[in-house]
Amino acid sequence: MTEKESPLYLKQMEIGPMENFVYLIGSKTAREAFVVDPAWQVDTVLRAAREENFKIVGALVTHYHFDHTNGIEELLEAVDCPVYVNKKDVPYLGLGSDRVRPVDSGMKVKAGEIEIECVHTPGHTPGSQCFHVSGHLVSGDTLFIGACGRTDLPGGDAKELYYSLTQRLSKFDGSTVLCPGHNYAAKPMTTMAEERKTNPYLLSDSLQHFLKFRTGVSETR
Ligand SMILES: [Zn+2]
Repeated sequence: MTEKESPLYLKQMEIGPMENFVYLIGSKTAREAFVVDPAWQVDTVLRAAREENFKIVGALVTHYHFDHTNGIEELLEAVDCPVYVNKKDVPYLGLGSDRVRPVDSGMKVKAGEIEIECVHTPGHTPGSQCFHVSGHLVSGDTLFIGACGRTDLPGGDAKELYYSLTQRLSKFDGSTVLCPGHNYAAKPMTTMAEERKTNPYLLSDSLQHFLKFRTGVSETR
């Protein structure tokens, strides 16, 4: 018996001068997709969606930083759609649009039958959030392959990040595919199991160790 093909559509695109990953996530059957972190070259994202016959039904924002959000206004000029931002990052984003929807952790949005859960993971910013969809975790700048987000920018908090990484992300199965917010590693995606084995930040066994380790490395991200 052949396995039924998953209706999940997930397209990863490296865009802009800071190696950002922008994603299209949605349903192959409904032909609807969300843009995760619209930035830099919105026309590239819109073209990709159009070429594959997907309708953009909203934007999902992992956090307020400029390199993840500088395309929101351009997107809204092209598509009238809601923009989901965790409520704690809404003031930092400072976007006056009535299309911005403040998000609480656990909120779900749907593209066809595909359900995407917003998981609040503060630390890199107060309102950083990851998106959990069909065995994938789109992690923004909270967790990178082999690294994690910096905490020295406005609203950053190393202690919060430690709890997000070790407690909030620990509920995700090892088989979960990690889809980070930047192309900083040798491969574009990995699994949570692999990260738990190799990522020094996830291997920290105490908050003290994590904080000490953090301050011992240069803050580049
Ligand atoms: Zn960031």
